[in-house]
Amino acid sequence: MQQNEMYDLTIIGAGPAGLYSTFYAGMRDLKVKLIEYNSELGGKILFYPEKIIWDVGGMPPTPGATLIDQLVNQANTFDPTICTNEHIEKMVREPDGMFTLFNDKGEKHYSKTVLLASGHGIPVMQKLELEGADRFEVANLHYTVTQIESFRDKRVLISGGGNAAVDWANELVGVAKEVIVCHRRHDFGGHEKNVAHMKSKVELRTPFQIKELHGERTSIDSVTLSHCDSELEERFDIDAVIVNHGMKMDGCFLMEAGLELEADGFVRVSPCMETSQPGIFAAGDVTRHAGKLQLISGAFVEGATAVNGVKQYLDPAATKQAFVSSHNEKFKQRNQEIKIEHKHKDKRKKLEFT
Ligand SMILES: Cc1cc2nc3c(=O)[nH]c(=O)nc-3n(C[C@H](O)[C@H](O)[C@H](O)COP(=O)(O)OP(=O)(O)OC[C@H]3O[C@@H](n4cnc5c(N)ncnc54)[C@H](O)[C@@H]3O)c2cc1C
Repeated sequence: MQQNEMYDLTIIGAGPAGLYSTFYAGMRDLKVKLIEYNSELGGKILFYPEKIIWDVGGMPPTPGATLIDQLVNQANTFDPTICTNEHIEKMVREPDGMFTLFNDKGEKHYSKTVLLASGHGIPVMQKLELEGADRFEVANLHYTVTQIESFRDKRVLISGGGNAAVDWANELVGVAKEVIVCHRRHDFGGHEKNVAHMKSKVELRTPFQIKELHGERTSIDSVTLSHCDSELEERFDIDAVIVNHGMKMDGCFLMEAGLELEADGFVRVSPCMETSQPGIFAAGDVTRHAGKLQLISGAFVEGATAVNGVKQYLDPAATKQAFVSSHNEKFKQRNQEIKIEHKHKDKRKKLEFT
């Protein structure tokens, strides 16, 4: 890759929105570059590699890590340029309307359009606001769950009330010896069914918050919870604490780019996912609009819509959307191979039944 090469589209962030948009940009014959801060691609799914994802249309229940592999494979279909370990800190529109993006190493990228797929910014879990809590991070204070099995037969306290806290509680029921969930409000985020399931299976404390972590050196052995509206306190013996108090939003560079933001820092977009700045589009968790679906499937739809917007921005005569994927010339050869693979599979199935 030549550092000063001009791209049709540069996508910031390689979560589900950025990865799927990269594939879709290839479908629309755009020269695309994907830039990610992390060394690995996958965005927030990297926080839940073992969690089974059920709610993506047409996809069988699949672990997060597998979905990342599939998204990365798909994103690579049209040989995009992918840069990792780069934090984009600044975007500037040049007098000729092109964009220059600056990373944390002082390097520049050049692009005709930009797609923000930056989620909640650099995903940094909100830490527990208790003095000295960080000393327990080496042992049993966790901000993410990457290996469910590491909690087997343990007494686990989860603090938080969002989607992730509810999911982790449900995943740990049946694996951990005991799951206690505390949250400073009565209401929980996430799917109603998941919340109801969690409430029926765990020891619930609301509205409670963690007041103190007790333990020798680096390991927590018990936790004091305090009631948010009274003096009531309870102490629990605990083997592990999982905190999910949301993520920090890194919105500085969005504001500096002159984008209109909602009060919560997310980017306001039009129905075709264009921001208030012509040529800058957005997709996924970073956007806000009336019909927002803040899930992976929502990120996919917004990604495709944004790329179609980019295509028309660059070439107003272009069709509004890509033709159906089966008609793409690039897939002709592979379509034949896949058809043969499926025929063989069907034959094998028939033989098994006879
Ligand atoms: C624990 C948990 C469980 C979940 N379970 C489900 C589920 O079962 N089903 C479901 O549909 N959804 C689920 N979600 C939500 C889902 O993960 C998000 O909706 C989805 O990841 C959003 O994708 P995105 O691409 O918009 O953003 P993200 O996945 O957040 O990706 C954004 C990427 O942009 C990068 N980035 C940000 N700023 C910059 C910058 N300035 N420069 C370079 N890179 C940058 C970040 O490093 C990150 O990799 C879950 C979320 C969590 C936390």
